[in-house]
Amino acid sequence: MNGKNPKIKVAHLDPQIDRAIKLIAKFQRINDLKINYTITLDYKLDCFGMFYPDEKHNITINPDQFHDTSKEEPHAVDYTTDFGLCSVVVHEIIHLLAEKYLIHDLYKEKFKNNKFILNNNSRKDVHETIAEEGRLYFMNPYFLKLISPDRFEFFQGLFQTPSPITKKSFIVKWKSWNPQIHQLCLEKWGIKVLGNRIFQDK
Ligand SMILES: [Zn+2]
Repeated sequence: MNGKNPKIKVAHLDPQIDRAIKLIAKFQRINDLKINYTITLDYKLDCFGMFYPDEKHNITINPDQFHDTSKEEPHAVDYTTDFGLCSVVVHEIIHLLAEKYLIHDLYKEKFKNNKFILNNNSRKDVHETIAEEGRLYFMNPYFLKLISPDRFEFFQGLFQTPSPITKKSFIVKWKSWNPQIHQLCLEKWGIKVLGNRIFQDK
């Protein structure tokens, strides 16, 4: 955009973007990081979000992409597949961190060809694998710990998660999911919750 007139103000930023910004601020505080970054809202971007590696301190999201996600694979906030705005912002931030700290070299060294597939996007390449796992570590770390202790330990060795790593917080998130996601969580990950207990098939 050229010139300074008019200024663009955003009123009522989506609460999910707010949640992401707060989580990222907490993440930086507890890990003693000071990363300035910009969130660009691009209403023509043809996907939910994007991190361009040559724009080291910017992530781009398209808020228009989130109005109807019913054609995507089944998803829920804080589940292994999550197309919420908060999740996409965090996913892009993980790409930014991965680029800055060369996380994919460490990841490849540690896991070699040992694949762990969280969701369809994870299949694409190692960058997406890391962004998806890092996003889950960020938003629902206890779940990642249950389904892949070695991935959980990998991320914990790099950064502290801004979310609580507790059974209780996992159960609260699990209870927010609908019956279809509960069924998938049981089929795919062998996990269900009854009352205040987590059951896991090994
Ligand atoms: Zn990505």
